[in-house]
Amino acid sequence: MTRIGFVGAGAGTAAAAYALRDSEADLTVLEKSGGVCGRAATRRRNDYEYVYDYGANYAKSEDERVNHLLTEELDTDGLVDVTEPVWTFDAAGDISEGKDADEHKWSYERGLTQIAKRLFGATDATVHRRTRVETVRRNSDRTWTLVDTEGGSYGPFDRLVLNPPAPQTAELLRDAEWDRELRTELAAEAASVSYRSIVTAVLGYDTALERDWYALVNVDKEHDVGWLAREECKDRHVPAGESLLVVQMSPAWSAEHYEDDPDEVCATVADATAELLGEPHLTDPGWTDHQGWRYALPDGGADTDLLGEAAEHGLHFTGDWVAGEARLHAALRNGLETGERIAEGL
Ligand SMILES: Cc1cc2nc3c(=O)[nH]c(=O)nc-3n(C[C@H](O)[C@H](O)[C@H](O)COP(=O)(O)OP(=O)(O)OC[C@H]3O[C@@H](n4cnc5c(N)ncnc54)[C@H](O)[C@@H]3O)c2cc1C
Repeated sequence: MTRIGFVGAGAGTAAAAYALRDSEADLTVLEKSGGVCGRAATRRRNDYEYVYDYGANYAKSEDERVNHLLTEELDTDGLVDVTEPVWTFDAAGDISEGKDADEHKWSYERGLTQIAKRLFGATDATVHRRTRVETVRRNSDRTWTLVDTEGGSYGPFDRLVLNPPAPQTAELLRDAEWDRELRTELAAEAASVSYRSIVTAVLGYDTALERDWYALVNVDKEHDVGWLAREECKDRHVPAGESLLVVQMSPAWSAEHYEDDPDEVCATVADATAELLGEPHLTDPGWTDHQGWRYALPDGGADTDLLGEAAEHGLHFTGDWVAGEARLHAALRNGLETGERIAEGL
């Protein structure tokens, strides 16, 4: 039986594992955080009283293959389609009815992480959480071994799939115990992908914010706020009569304030939100949450021809930076294709 190891349990890995579900392969996933689905992240509060997607807000329905996956192949119980539109605002804070390009905006009643949970659920993959891979080792018999930060060893694997954002993949490759020339070239390619950071503030209010839109996006990229969404537009995310805003600050603002105190960040974001929406009471949320995403969105992607050459060494890459598009559906599509390619070669 072919043994396949995955570093990271993001959407890319989840889709690749799903594509391998009917193969004879034995799948092992090592994930550094406590959950799956990576930057398509969900938190809950008070035992699901509040559910909020604080990384990616939804999966777009741009890709037919991914649409089919979400609406036909996986269990659709609790699948949420946000029907309210996305509007726009500019540097001056003028809000206008934008063109909502997304036909469907998918999430789940229990949050976006359901995508990876349902994908993994269709497989026999073993997922080790809170397991950060520190060392990638190539063995003399052409298999791979992974060592975590606690010294735990996993493998050997006949195939290895790397899913972390490009800078973290580059670091793993640079430090890998493997052919120097190959790892240096691949690490340099991964490191060539630059990323934008995003600071997310979550603002909870015990009164409803009535609006015709689900979210606002800053189109000229000149405002401190980049994106603002009303999580209550997703079924079962927010109790009736309340509002929960997920506010993503612009990459420029986020870079400048990345290390700031989270409470101060939330207070500043609440002020900016109140001003943008013309609602003074929004300066005073009932509760807040915060997350900094250092590697939020890749600018473009890596040279897939070069990355593809690693396949002959049993090494594969998946994720949005491999797809060349900073989108959840792109990561899912890339994962499906990566998994299918591996399955074909088994
Ligand atoms: C704030 C924000 C807003 C976004 N908004 C949208 C949106 O509205 N629509 C959209 O389509 N997309 C959006 N995106 C992008 C979308 O979230 C990503 O494109 C997609 O989730 C990437 O999936 P992935 O599998 O490539 O990588 P990731 O989700 O990054 O998964 C990689 C996994 O690897 C793990 N990992 C890293 N290093 C190690 C290690 N050493 N050992 C073990 N595990 C490791 C990580 O913990 C992570 O779980 C947004 C992203 C962010 C951050």
